[in-house]
Amino acid sequence: MKNSVLLIYTGGTIGMVQDERGALRPFPMERIYDLVPELHRCPYRIDTCQLDRIIDSSNMSPDFWVDIAEAIEKRYDDYDGFVVLHGTDTMAYTASALSFMFKNLSKPIILTGSQLPMGVLRTDGRENIICALELASCREAYIPEVCLFFENHLYRGNRSTKVSAENFDAFCSFNFPSLAKAGIKFSFKPHLFMPSGTEPLQVRKKFDRNIAVLKLFPGITPQVVNAILHAENLHGIIIETFGSGNAPTEEWFIQAMNDALQRGIIVLNVTQCKAGAVIMGQYEASCELNRIGIIGGNDITLEAAVTKLMYLLGTYPDDLDHVRHCLQRPLRGEMTTSR
Ligand code: ASP
Repeated sequence: MKNSVLLIYTGGTIGMVQDERGALRPFPMERIYDLVPELHRCPYRIDTCQLDRIIDSSNMSPDFWVDIAEAIEKRYDDYDGFVVLHGTDTMAYTASALSFMFKNLSKPIILTGSQLPMGVLRTDGRENIICALELASCREAYIPEVCLFFENHLYRGNRSTKVSAENFDAFCSFNFPSLAKAGIKFSFKPHLFMPSGTEPLQVRKKFDRNIAVLKLFPGITPQVVNAILHAENLHGIIIETFGSGNAPTEEWFIQAMNDALQRGIIVLNVTQCKAGAVIMGQYEASCELNRIGIIGGNDITLEAAVTKLMYLLGTYPDDLDHVRHCLQRPLRGEMTTSR
């Protein structure tokens, strides 16, 4: 039987055309074959579907992640793999969210997009779509992961980050190597793929949006920190700290964090650096954070941290010890274990 891929369109530059005012807006999926006639020549079956709402990915939300997951879940047994066309702005968030939603995944789910719309002569979208489809359709490669393909690299989705608003190589995976590279041939690094589960697929669909991200900067005031920590219904917060997880040692700051922890708010420490990890206790400036019970996020990306925290709080709302436990270890290869 021919290999097969489901191509799901969610929006983003890749599927945009210019309207009469010159503004970019999404276009219907059927046009993909006009814009990439090469798709007719692919040796595998490509079926297409489009979500009910086509969005600029700046409007992405957990409800939309569920829509994407359900589009895949419904047809999971019918295809060898899935390609999701998505805007680049929040693609790394969606890839991370999907990675947590799909437990025991045994097929590739590959997100891709482009920096230039498909209708533009120099578009990077054509290459990205064709490579993503090749990878998703290839039974031999066996990629049981949510991945992101961009500009010749296949990345683990929950390790990737958008780094450029103008270059074609718009994504990076600073703390984990790319899983495959497209040259004349694809060169795979099979030892990097996650082991696939033998258990049946489970799709988890609950996210808790009551979280916040607090990016530290020199001179941050108690008013700002406290305003965020006292946001109504706050269940979890990610503090983006300096270097290897360092924060001000001033008493008011530690006090504010401690007070939040005492109120049952989960606090996760993620570094502002693109590469490297949080090592709590390495400097005096993180010893207190460690002592009061803030969780170190190791080398997780902000995108993976946000979606993991929403996922865990949504899935285990009554078991915060389990949430804390899971934040300290990789669930889908999103962080390194041995540091
Ligand atoms: N704003 C667009 C989006 O993320 C940008 C892109 O697709 O590259 O939907």
